[in-house]
Amino acid sequence: MRFDLNASRFADTDVRADAWAVIGADRALRWHELAEQAHVWVAQARAHGFAADVPVIVRGHKEAGFLVAMAGALLLGAPFVPVDTIYPDERMRRIASALSAQTYFDAQGGRFVSLNAQGGRPETGAAQGSASPASAPQALREKNLAYVLFTSGTTGEPKGVQIGRESVAALADWMAADFALGDVPVFLNQAPFSFDLSMYEVFGTLTLGGTVVLASRALTAQGATFLATLARHAVTTWVSTPSFAQQQLLNPQFSQDGLPTLGTFLFCGEVLPVALARQLRQRFPAARLINTYGPTEATVATTWIVVDDAVLAHHARLPIGYAKRDAEVFVDEGELCIAGAHVMRGYLNRADLNAARMFIHDGQRAFRTGDLGAVDGGGLLFCHGRIDDQIKMGGYRIELMEIDAALRALPGAASAASVPLRRPDGSVARIVGFVATGNDDGRLPDALHDWKMLLAARLPSYMIPSELLACRSLPVSVNFKIDRAQLAQDYRDVHLKAQRQHNA
Ligand code: AMP
Repeated sequence: MRFDLNASRFADTDVRADAWAVIGADRALRWHELAEQAHVWVAQARAHGFAADVPVIVRGHKEAGFLVAMAGALLLGAPFVPVDTIYPDERMRRIASALSAQTYFDAQGGRFVSLNAQGGRPETGAAQGSASPASAPQALREKNLAYVLFTSGTTGEPKGVQIGRESVAALADWMAADFALGDVPVFLNQAPFSFDLSMYEVFGTLTLGGTVVLASRALTAQGATFLATLARHAVTTWVSTPSFAQQQLLNPQFSQDGLPTLGTFLFCGEVLPVALARQLRQRFPAARLINTYGPTEATVATTWIVVDDAVLAHHARLPIGYAKRDAEVFVDEGELCIAGAHVMRGYLNRADLNAARMFIHDGQRAFRTGDLGAVDGGGLLFCHGRIDDQIKMGGYRIELMEIDAALRALPGAASAASVPLRRPDGSVARIVGFVATGNDDGRLPDALHDWKMLLAARLPSYMIPSELLACRSLPVSVNFKIDRAQLAQDYRDVHLKAQRQHNA
């Protein structure tokens, strides 16, 4: 059995209907159960006023019901908006407000929940069964979207990337045609559904008729149990950021012997370091490594390359490969640009950003990525980092300006800046925050005693700086922007001095 994206329905319903479709953190569902429950979900969603083109927020973390809701939304023609519980209530409220949403689906509780108008906190116990919403949820201007995914935004507000159904159909076609994942792939899914990397497994499983194993944060934190779970379900396709795979290498059980069915590592989201690729080739001699690249704005990934021994022998820094079928990638004034049906329809309600980043190229939607790129004579593409202040840390996409905005909202902060501290290879090890308080002594004022807690109300944990430092004022560069490089240097100087004093 599988999900037919073009017809928006379950297809081949008598084929392997008893096979597992989803192994959730809470329960497992066979394909016929997934289909039955998705239809029930559609009826419930309709009772809450949801319909085609009306976005539906799905909140949770790795429950089987999350997949039920996504499949149900595809049946209904309602774009789903995945929000992992890693996002605090405040961020959820901002997302709901951008969508004018008053109700969301709670995958943990398996029910629709209304958001109260002021605080945006869920009203627990509300809206069981059929309900009459205060006002019907609103349809989006863009029609036939598959999902809307919110990523970090420079203004401090997350921005909604609108992905059309034609774009996910292109993703599924590409996976089926080029990835050689076998007849019934069993995917590892561990990235939160609010990150588009996880859409590989969602659409891969649904359209290829495979199985997806949803690994919760609690499970992945227990190395041995996590790997035993993957082995028990005979996972064939590993999907993660390179950072996540790097963590697993600490466990000696993470090897082909422990996971004999694992045939493919599918990476995306950040640089795949050569050293990691080499280690994985050694531990998993029978597995293929696929490095893919692309922003959320172009439906998960746009370029790809199988990283074999020949590729590793030729490159000190891995290429991002070649454009996928039906996509075009080119370098314009040093910036990677992407064109094709898989490019988003635009950011939700952000005409300014759409005008700056989107354009038409040979009749196709096109997007300026903000990535520095290069292409060789054979069309092999390379990504050399960012033009702007967007970073990746541990695989997470972060706009430093979003952290700045949260820091500026702290009591007594006249201005503020976040600064990434990089390892020698350029990857970000951690972020430190600076607040200008007007004081010279560098000590945080009492009002900032609980700064981590204050930030956690607004930012997901991976965006919270590991340290906060006070300063009189922040240095500015020639173009009057806060000089993050100078702050990073100041930080290193202060620590070096402290270390020298300690050693003396
Ligand atoms: P996201 O929207 O979270 O997928 O992040 C997209 C950004 O991550 C891209 O614009 C790149 O800066 C970076 N990125 C994604 N994949 C790769 C890759 N394979 N190699 C290098 N950078 C990557």
